Amino acid sequence: MSAPTHHAPGGGFRNPWPGAGSAERGLGAFLRWRLQRLGEATEPDPAPGELPLAQSQVAQPRAEPGELRITWVGHSTLLVQIGRWNVLTDPVWSERASPVQWAGPARLVPPGVAWEALPPIDAVLISHDHYDHLDRDTVARLHERFGEELQWLAPLGFADWFRQVGVRHVEELDWWDERSLGAGAGAPPIRLTAAPAQHWSRRSPLERRRDRLWCSWVLQSGDARLYFAGDTGYFPAFPEIAARHGPFDVAALPIGAYEPRWFMRAAHMDPGEAVRAYLELGGRGALLPMHWGTFRLTDEPVLEPPRLLRRAWAEAQLPERDLALLRHGQTLVRRTGTD
Ligand code: ZN
Ligand code: ZN
Repeated sequence: MSAPTHHAPGGGFRNPWPGAGSAERGLGAFLRWRLQRLGEATEPDPAPGELPLAQSQVAQPRAEPGELRITWVGHSTLLVQIGRWNVLTDPVWSERASPVQWAGPARLVPPGVAWEALPPIDAVLISHDHYDHLDRDTVARLHERFGEELQWLAPLGFADWFRQVGVRHVEELDWWDERSLGAGAGAPPIRLTAAPAQHWSRRSPLERRRDRLWCSWVLQSGDARLYFAGDTGYFPAFPEIAARHGPFDVAALPIGAYEPRWFMRAAHMDPGEAVRAYLELGGRGALLPMHWGTFRLTDEPVLEPPRLLRRAWAEAQLPERDLALLRHGQTLVRRTGTD
């Protein structure tokens, strides 16, 4: 039995699973959400110091063989040091996750790794085109700094956008496509695989809907394997991702931007669903929660996602040491291939 395709008839992309719909809610639902919110008191943003920056342990310039180091820069931006490779996911160093820098969600915490402190970057993975994941200024600055040395990987439909920013060194991948970098270079190469996610895309109401695909990523080098979920609702493909590419040393899963559920459920997991996804991904290795505490995008209090995650983790009777609930800037260090 083959699953229904994510290539929509007539062009563009869709979520193939029943119940997901487009995951993007229409203007009517958006207005209903904003109106509903007017009548409700929202919890204030965290006070200074409630989201402290940790001192990162970035390996300069690179990690040791057999080491997996992941530093949470903030939101879905991870600095992944896997074997001898340095990779960024959904890099955002700008002050706001927005088309303009004078309005839109502003950072609650500075980036956990200062721009100047970045080691040489080999590859950047993009999960989809929303402003909190694909930031034009950051893309331009990375390109200026690392130039053609840097391999950009994105799902289908991104080449034109990158070309407008001056970046030509980009490869577009469909779900389950993979690319290897560094084959024959002596040290283990890195294999990067685009995997499914349940989400949507569009940067402006003027663009056609869903012309750019969305995805999650598997990173594998030597014995180390990381799953980076990008932005996703809870959906049925986690067991297949694990069967094809697991077991994972670390699963980086989004836990924020889930309220109100009637509006957000198809596109964003809540912490309980993230724990369920972790179990379906094999239930081993570390869960590294992301997509919280950096930009306020939705209605839940900023500090609620980690609270609910701890509760769901305890209820599932999972070991404390495998919950990698990092502070901004904090580095998770795992040895791989030792058991
Ligand atoms: Zn998104
Ligand atoms: Zn997002």
